[in-house]
Amino acid sequence: MVIAIDGPAGAGKSSVARALSEAIGFTYLDSGAMYRCVAFEVLRRDLDPGDSAAATSVAETVQIGFTAGGVSLDGVEAEPLIRAPEVTEAASRVSVHPGVRAALVAEQRRLISEGRYVAEGRDIGTVVSPDSPLKVFLTATPEERARRRAVQTGGDARQILASQNDRDRRDSEREIGALRTAEDAVTVDTTDRTLDQVVDAIAGLARGRGLA
Ligand code: C5P
Repeated sequence: MVIAIDGPAGAGKSSVARALSEAIGFTYLDSGAMYRCVAFEVLRRDLDPGDSAAATSVAETVQIGFTAGGVSLDGVEAEPLIRAPEVTEAASRVSVHPGVRAALVAEQRRLISEGRYVAEGRDIGTVVSPDSPLKVFLTATPEERARRRAVQTGGDARQILASQNDRDRRDSEREIGALRTAEDAVTVDTTDRTLDQVVDAIAGLARGRGLA
């Protein structure tokens, strides 16, 4: 079973999903890390992230594992390498390929079927688990999202905003698994709210629905 936390880059999904999973005793699943692992491996093998067949073959064969500390790729710890800017860019590009999405969605469904998860991503509530009993769509203004990324990673907020806009556009325009709000999702705008306020609100929804 899964509580779905979807939304654009920088809306606070990782912090919220991680804290929520701890608050209610669920397992945290970072689906974006899986796309990042595929992108990392594509770059490591000197393949083109735009090459659908090559990226799909990588997605179908790599072993992605979740450990207490993070994510492993073919048995080797993948953090923090998968957070590098070039991997972020490549993850956005490999994630448009239907074959990549099919491989990773299948793996996400397998994981989710085995326990109680809080999963964050773009398509958890729409594609991975349309029957999720609680779907949250997190938003924040583009400027606030870029500002948070700049604080987290350093770098120029204007540049971050530009590349974030590119990623948002690719995420929204792709044919499969596009970023959109599920009809039955609760939209939570995090722009003027603290992490604790957002987590408390969602934990309250989960308890209200008898999930936690
Ligand atoms: O969430 P994160 O920024 O780590 O995701 C990296 C990239 O993976 C995103 O830019 C997005 O293109 C892709 N992604 C996706 N579907 C998901 C999660 C992430 O397409 N469920």
